[in-house]
Amino acid sequence: MIVTAPKRIYIGLLSLGVGLMALMGGAICYAFIYRPHYLVKGLLVLIGAFLLVAVPFLLLGLMGIVLSILSERRLPSFENCIHTTMNLLLPIVVLLGKALRVGKEPVERSFVSVNNYLVRLAARSCQPNELLVLLPHCLQDTECSHKITVRLNNCQRCGRCPVGPLLDLHDEIGFFISVATGGSQARRIVKDRRPKAILAVACERELTSGIQDVGSIPVLGILNQRPEGPCRNTRVDPLAVRQVLEHFLRGDD
Ligand code: SF4
Repeated sequence: MIVTAPKRIYIGLLSLGVGLMALMGGAICYAFIYRPHYLVKGLLVLIGAFLLVAVPFLLLGLMGIVLSILSERRLPSFENCIHTTMNLLLPIVVLLGKALRVGKEPVERSFVSVNNYLVRLAARSCQPNELLVLLPHCLQDTECSHKITVRLNNCQRCGRCPVGPLLDLHDEIGFFISVATGGSQARRIVKDRRPKAILAVACERELTSGIQDVGSIPVLGILNQRPEGPCRNTRVDPLAVRQVLEHFLRGDD
């Protein structure tokens, strides 16, 4: 399924993170009233200067995300701020979630959901050969002896796992498709292929780190289903993959 988890989790925690940073900036200004030791003063000046630059920028990014969602429109002038805010504050957002007893997975799912929404709004149309579909190795049936990570066409399309139907889709549409055994291999594929857009199938953790890694390339994330637990015989609906691909090919939602 395309990730459409509640966006409010990520946006709420992001707002809290930016708010706390602004508060910290205020507290640093207040601390100067007590004439701190010069070493402490130096440290406070450094942190204060960082916050002075970072907080307005992050606030703009946050505002851009919220306005994009509320207006259902792409806001090109906010794009850089949005991208930096989304990715830079993710570790803080996850930490805040932990402190508030929100699990890491719901936070990551919400992050991917916000990302998907913004990518859909950006709606860049692509040619099939500019599209990269990245699949996780765990989609392959564990009993299958064909080495699809070496060569995807080794798959016999026997119907026991989703790899066969996805290869049929690849033959029909003509996008580039690859199976990655992990994050570093996925990064290498993206670097070699230089796609205009990526459709990634993975779990919350891999999707989140993948979206952060690829920088400015739009990535739409589809969450794999895990009926047997993580990393084993996972599933994905080829119809959901087709719908996302059509979105990229048409360049609209
Ligand atoms: S479709 Fe069949 S042959 Fe292809 S990877 Fe899955 S189990 Fe192996």
